[in-house]
Amino acid sequence: MNAEILSVGTELLLGNTTNTDARDISAALAELGINVYWHTVVGDNPARLAACVDIARSRADLIITTGGLGPTCDDLTKNVLAECFGRKLYFDEAEAESIRAWFRENRPGRPMTNNNEQQAWLPEGCTVFHNEWGTAPGCAFCEGGVTVCMLPGPPRECNAMLRACVMPYLAAKSDSHLYTHMFHVFGEGESAVEARLRDRMNRMTNPTLAPYCKDGEVMLRLTAKAGSRAEAEEMMAPAVEEIRRTLGDLIYAVDEADLERAVSRALHAQGKTLAAAESCTGGLLAKRITDVPGASQIFRGGVTVYTNDAKVILAGVEREVLARCGAVSREVAVALAEGVRARLGADLGVGVTGLAGPEGDGSGVPVGTAFVSLADGEHVYTRELHMNHARSVFRTCAVNHALDMVRRRLTGLPVERYGFPE
Ligand code: ATP
Ligand code: MG
Repeated sequence: MNAEILSVGTELLLGNTTNTDARDISAALAELGINVYWHTVVGDNPARLAACVDIARSRADLIITTGGLGPTCDDLTKNVLAECFGRKLYFDEAEAESIRAWFRENRPGRPMTNNNEQQAWLPEGCTVFHNEWGTAPGCAFCEGGVTVCMLPGPPRECNAMLRACVMPYLAAKSDSHLYTHMFHVFGEGESAVEARLRDRMNRMTNPTLAPYCKDGEVMLRLTAKAGSRAEAEEMMAPAVEEIRRTLGDLIYAVDEADLERAVSRALHAQGKTLAAAESCTGGLLAKRITDVPGASQIFRGGVTVYTNDAKVILAGVEREVLARCGAVSREVAVALAEGVRARLGADLGVGVTGLAGPEGDGSGVPVGTAFVSLADGEHVYTRELHMNHARSVFRTCAVNHALDMVRRRLTGLPVERYGFPE
């Protein structure tokens, strides 16, 4: 099945609204193994919409529309689509009643204007997608070998109905699905990872392998089109094996959301706790680790030690060390990690100090320098980083390194090393 997504709404053309519906629908169709070949946007204009429908039906066998199902006079999608495919509209009394009920419940004391009933006019013979998240129902029908699905524009409604109505409707029509594994990789850039796997990627058709990059992390998505999960796993097995062999311990998780979750899981599993003293990351590590439910069992706490005074008062760094080595130094990162670990009685302490920029601090330390230390009571491990990133990415990457060090310490891997072995 080849699909076209047809988003209707002048606000999309004017740049007032980003077409997130099309993105969400594309992602959902990818999960079903349906190829999306076109995204079209057209304004609330019946003649131009009809022209787009003619083009779409000539090249796609699935058309999904968004927007224009509402009660106002510019909401024309159903009328135009029905006309293009030679279907009459009928008044769906059940949908009309549920629209009336919605107003009684959500707008008590205010009469429903008659134009709301317009939403209950639907193409004859269609499958009705009842809208539990708003008022405008969606619908689907097949005509002349083309399947048409219509969804409301508001993203919350569009998304909910996509998952609850459209995906099951389409899944029932297709006998193959996409199954994926997502490999999360830290410690090397996208191009270095891709270079190692390029030959294999070029040879692959099903499954396929695609790299994505996000703030210093690389994700590899392995996707098989198959009739069942078991069949897909069998098809993916050789590639999984090769990816694991090639990337080894740079893979920190498979099918898991992020580094903080991987670290959190490892800390829980080993009954260990973490504490953090953060300078340049301003509490971002604490934020990210406490984003994960159950953090109170593994995270003792953190301090944001942005000034020298804070480093002394809150993490016990000696003034002499700060004066001798400077705030952005290996020695201070070590002292922060040891200090916060001891003060909070944690198994592991992290210290982060660095210069995010954009301006230097006059000390001669280059912008983009960071030192990240991990103390476990016996050893202190430190990474010296030189990162050429904007401020926010610099912080994210520094925290990623701290989390990666915790992960590697907990899994018995060399902590200071990252990236491919020389
Ligand atoms: P309503 O019942 O609200 O009138 P509708 O189906 O008629 O729904 P529209 O009127 O086209 O939808 O859009 C309603 C809201 O949804 C607007 O705020 C619009 O900006 C937003 N919206 C519409 N289409 C999209 C889209 N493709 N992506 C993201 N937002 C969208
Ligand atoms: Mg609109």
